[in-house]
Amino acid sequence: MQDQEQGRIRERAHAIWEGEGRPEGRHAEHWQQAEQEMGSAGRQPELTAQGATPAAASPPRLNPGDDAAPGTPGTGEDVCPTCQGSGRIEGHSCEDCGGTGIVIKGVAGG
Ligand SMILES: [Zn+2]
Repeated sequence: MQDQEQGRIRERAHAIWEGEGRPEGRHAEHWQQAEQEMGSAGRQPELTAQGATPAAASPPRLNPGDDAAPGTPGTGEDVCPTCQGSGRIEGHSCEDCGGTGIVIKGVAGG
């Protein structure tokens, strides 16, 4: 809202005026300074617009049957117990292994 912004500028201008020892006849200067501060704080340059996020940073996709992400130390691939490694259950893709027939399990020592 325009009124809210004006109010904030007025408050800031007043603070600047007090900070400088309440000099007389400097109101316009303080107002201008407050406006500039508000402008620089409230408006971001368009150059830093979002939308260029690299897709390579996405985390590895885990299946519900996985204990950990592939490559995690102390884990290894195992046959999916849900579909017995077939990757399919009754004609549908196994959800636990994502249709791969393989899940990641912890292999602690043995
Ligand atoms: Zn499976």
